[in-house]
Amino acid sequence: MSVLESTPPRFTAEDAARIAAELFGLHARAAQLGSERDQAFLLDDGGAGAVLKISNSGEDAAVLDLEEAAVAHVHAVDPGLPLARPLAPRAVFGGHHLRLFEQLRGHKGDSGLGDEAVRELTAVHARLCLALRSFFHPAAGRELLWDVREAPRLRPLLDEIDDTKRRALAARSLDRFEERVLPVWPQLRAQVVHGDFNLDNLLLDERDRISGILDLGDCCHTALAADVAVALASLLRGRPPEDVFRVARLALDGYAPLRLEPLELELLGSLVAARLTAIVAISTWRVRRFPENADYIQSWDDDSWALLELFDALGPDAVARELRGAHASVATPSLARRRERATGALLTPLTYARPVHAVRAEGVWIHEADGSRLLDAYNNVPVVGHCHPRVTEAVVRQTRLLATHARYLYEPLVELAERLLATFPPNAGLDTVLLLNSGSEANDLAWRLATAVTGRGGALVTEHAYHGVTAAASDLSPEDWAAGARPPHVARIPPPGTAVDLDAAVTAALARLDGGLAATFLDGCLMSDGIHTPGDAELRLLVERTHAAGGLYVADEVQAGHGRTGPGLWSFVRHGVAPDIVTLGKPMGNGYPVAALVTRRELAERFPHAGATFSTFGGNPVAARAGLAVLDVLEDELLPARAVAVGERLRTTLARLEKPDVVEVRGTGLLAGVQLTGAGLARRVADELREAGILVGITGPAGDVLKIRPPLVFADEHTDLLVTALDRILA
Ligand code: PMP
Repeated sequence: MSVLESTPPRFTAEDAARIAAELFGLHARAAQLGSERDQAFLLDDGGAGAVLKISNSGEDAAVLDLEEAAVAHVHAVDPGLPLARPLAPRAVFGGHHLRLFEQLRGHKGDSGLGDEAVRELTAVHARLCLALRSFFHPAAGRELLWDVREAPRLRPLLDEIDDTKRRALAARSLDRFEERVLPVWPQLRAQVVHGDFNLDNLLLDERDRISGILDLGDCCHTALAADVAVALASLLRGRPPEDVFRVARLALDGYAPLRLEPLELELLGSLVAARLTAIVAISTWRVRRFPENADYIQSWDDDSWALLELFDALGPDAVARELRGAHASVATPSLARRRERATGALLTPLTYARPVHAVRAEGVWIHEADGSRLLDAYNNVPVVGHCHPRVTEAVVRQTRLLATHARYLYEPLVELAERLLATFPPNAGLDTVLLLNSGSEANDLAWRLATAVTGRGGALVTEHAYHGVTAAASDLSPEDWAAGARPPHVARIPPPGTAVDLDAAVTAALARLDGGLAATFLDGCLMSDGIHTPGDAELRLLVERTHAAGGLYVADEVQAGHGRTGPGLWSFVRHGVAPDIVTLGKPMGNGYPVAALVTRRELAERFPHAGATFSTFGGNPVAARAGLAVLDVLEDELLPARAVAVGERLRTTLARLEKPDVVEVRGTGLLAGVQLTGAGLARRVADELREAGILVGITGPAGDVLKIRPPLVFADEHTDLLVTALDRILA
């Protein structure tokens, strides 16, 4: 408290002019500037001018040294930041430290500051924080009542607030700080910060951009988020209540370079409230002691109280939501009701009798809104594990750098295309890639390519195949056909791997086909057909028969690819067949939309739209970075090979259950289909597993097959959790 308690210096302007001349050789007219605990004078010498700062006699020389070292550090790290530099070494006069600073030009901002200026102001503050993060000084650990961390020490000061309502308001703010912030304070990023980055300490140019950063008098080592709170408190007070959070969010946009962490964002509202409480409490207390400086001390009080009231009325959770930009709806029916109201009949229904409300996930775990955690044995998209840091970081970094389209030249598209091509067998002739956005789009384009190149219009697909959602792809997807409907250009064969005479089945199907065969599409793991493993000879036969009929063979690796079947990346390679077209999707970006079509140059060149295919987001740099990161992780974590081992043990353990309700356990790689005795049973089992905290799916033409298709980071311990639960449920 010493600097706040001791009497501020009381020099006149004439004194200041005389001192400046005597000590610094500067002959100028002096005019007093406002200051809380020090004195500052503007010195007009008819030239560049200067500012004389006379410190409080309670000021510690080490702290002044800290300020000077911080300014020097910032100038060295980021010379563009306009911090006022000292013009001469410090001097001592009458027990006060005296400093002469360069005079920066500009005007002070107020609560009318425009949106653009707000964003630019916080962006400059972010730069200052970044410049200071490498700074150290022994005096930075000083205790200063203005440091937000010290908020609990404001308690005794509240006694001097006469208005009982306001006193209670300030006390509530401190209560919240102690309940919410203090216990987790050590988890917050901390560094040396400006400490008082508010509009009073900033000069703005004619376009309201920062032209001067003044007064590092409150510089200290504290939470980074606390310094952000100081600036926010200053930028938000005095604004109409309906504008406060809009401006706060714009201000936070400017802080993007600080990459504020979830905890920092969650606590920000409470930190702002604590800062406002410090303002009103300290000023009430100081005015009693130094009534002659009341105007300066109290200049922000009314606006601070008003903002504090607003934050208090909303409560910290609503404030945090507002700062995040998530507007609370007026009445809050369940999320499921809101989903249904907003999306109606178009969106697929929710899975499970009790839908999953997911809020975050990592690895093989999905966390629900109620705090429970679910073992994900279902999702293949997060192939390298939910939210794998390599992928999320790659996406976020590229998002910050460049997100554009394939009509411009940039590295990620080319790198991913080359990288993918290198994963195919050299003799397969697959030398041309087009990056797209979904498996459906890849299959749709495969269909266009096949029909154009062959001049035919028919397709062979498996009984219950799924190849996508576009008009062309849904025709190729019997799983989605309306009952009794069959597009005349599509004929079906039984899924390979089901011990049928495939040769005869192909002959019969081709005979039913209108328009000759353009392409055969095969999902390498026959997921929608109920999960089957085609034999090598069967697939070779299918490719031969397709070619003999003049069609192209499309290996749909959207489900089977990216290591699912292991030990390589692509399932068709295991069978030794050479497709004409390969389609990729789902796991390709670990959740970020990215897909691809791979084919031979010779086919691509015969496509009438060759050189003209373009999809706005296809191969955009962010998607490409996601695709590259997934390939990296699959390789570095040896996941495709692991999929074989974990999957084999999974199926063996499942088969050993020997339950009467289990008809068969099938699959390859990290994929298991557990055929049960009926669809109703499968549904009940999936629901009960969900209640037991484990997610599986259902597939097959009869809907009686449990689909176990986890992220490839699924391990034996997870298998054991799943099988134990299934054992209990089937019993
Ligand atoms: N092909 C297969 C084998 C699929 O399983 C799917 C999606 N389930 C698709 C294509 C379509 O992919 P998307 O949903 O990304 O369009």
